[in-house]
Amino acid sequence: MQNKNSSHQPSAIPAKGIAVHSASANFEPYNFTRRNPRENDVVIEIKYCGICHSDIHQARSEWFQGFYPMVPGHEIAGVVSQIGSKVSKYKIGDRVGVGCFVDSCRTCANCHNHLDNYCLNGNVLTYNSLEKDGKTPTQGGYSDMIVVDENYVLKIPDNISLEHAAPLLCAGITLYSPLKNWQAGKNKKVGIIGMGGLGHMGLKIAVAMQAEVTIFSHSDRKKDDAIKMGACEFIVSNPENFSKLQGQFDLIINTVSSSEINLSEYFNLLKFDATLVAIGAPEKPYSINPFPLIMMRRKFAGSVIGSIDETQEMLDFCGKHNIVPEIEIINPSYVDKAYERMLKSDVRYRFVIDMAKL
Ligand SMILES: [Zn+2]
Ligand SMILES: [Zn+2]
Repeated sequence: MQNKNSSHQPSAIPAKGIAVHSASANFEPYNFTRRNPRENDVVIEIKYCGICHSDIHQARSEWFQGFYPMVPGHEIAGVVSQIGSKVSKYKIGDRVGVGCFVDSCRTCANCHNHLDNYCLNGNVLTYNSLEKDGKTPTQGGYSDMIVVDENYVLKIPDNISLEHAAPLLCAGITLYSPLKNWQAGKNKKVGIIGMGGLGHMGLKIAVAMQAEVTIFSHSDRKKDDAIKMGACEFIVSNPENFSKLQGQFDLIINTVSSSEINLSEYFNLLKFDATLVAIGAPEKPYSINPFPLIMMRRKFAGSVIGSIDETQEMLDFCGKHNIVPEIEIINPSYVDKAYERMLKSDVRYRFVIDMAKL
C-alpha cells in the first residue's frame, strides 16, 4: 500500500507521545500531529526509544532555550507502516531506525562528502529543532510514530532486536565514529573515560575493532562489568594510578559530560602525537592546561555522532559482531524517574522506553 499525497488528505496525521511543557515540568501525555508523508517519506511505527543524556539537557533547556512542548528522543527503532510514492529503499514492515537528525541541506561540501552530521548549513535535529520550513518544531521518539525522509532512515540488521537497536542510533554511533576516525584497532591502546551509556558502547565496539581497551571510572563499581565486556584494564581515576600510565595511549575518548573533570591529567597519558576526543557535552566550559599538549604535540579534539552512511555502517558492524547495548526497558510513565536515576549514574547501561505501553 502506498500513500499518494492528494488534496483530499488532511494536512497532518495524529500522533501521541509524552512531552515536557517547560524546562522544569515533568512528562505528560501529549497529542500532536506529524506531517502527511511526502513522496520520499517513510512513516514509522515506533516500538522503542532509548533515553540519551542529551534528552535531559534539552528537556531542561540546559544547553539553550528549548522548543516546548518538547517530545525528546533520538534513539528510535520501529517498523515501517506507510511509504510515500517515490520511496525506494524501504517497504512496509521493514525494521528501521532514526537517530539524531532527520534532514540536512544536502548541498554543502560536507553533505556531498557523506559527512551530513557536520552539515555546514545545520542539519534538522530529530527533536527540539525546526524543520526545513523554519517554523515547524520537530518532535522525537518518545511517541508512537514519526515521519522521516527515507534518506535519513537506517536499516536495522536482522539479528539485532529493536529494543537493543535503539541505543545504537545515538550512543553506538557517537562512539563508533571517533573510534574509526582515529583508527582504533589491533595493537592500539584506547582509553575510555566513563562507563555509562556511551562508555559501555565504546568498550564493546573498540574490543570488536581489536583494540586494547582501558576504562577510566570514578569508582570500581562497574569493574566486573567492564572486564566481562572485554576491557583489558579498569582504572579508578586518581593521581597514583595515573602516574603509572604516562604516555601509553594512542587514543582516549571522554564520554563524561561534566566540566569538573581534569582533562589535563589525561593528556599526559597520551603517547606523542596522540589524541583525546571529547564527545560528552558539558553545560559549562572546561578549563585545561595546554602544557601536556604542547610538549608532546598531543591533540584535543571533538566529535559528534556520525553521518547517515557511517551510522548504517555502524549498525552493520554491530550486527556482524553481535554487539548490543545493555538495557533496562521501562514504561513511558517512568521517564521522569529514569532521568533522576541517570543523573545518579544508576542505570546499567541505557534506559529504553517501550512505546507500545503509551
Ligand atoms: Zn543522544
Ligand atoms: Zn549540508
